[in-house]
Amino acid sequence: MVRSFLFRCRDTGMTVQGFADDDALPAEGAVRYEWVRCPACGAGHLVNPDTGSLLVDAREKAQTIGL
Ligand SMILES: [Zn+2]
Repeated sequence: MVRSFLFRCRDTGMTVQGFADDDALPAEGAVRYEWVRCPACGAGHLVNPDTGSLLVDAREKAQTIGL
């Protein structure tokens, strides 16, 4: 089943809608990212459909705290 989720485009700051296929659920506790073609900036983003956070943001956060 496909469900929708919202995330914020990093380039435009707009909140946009993405879609994820829930048929391929990851193991519990696993983090997944969906590739979404962004209608706001036209590029693609890797987004966590469960949290709406972008993979690039998660990476920067990890670097900031020294992981
Ligand atoms: Zn975008």
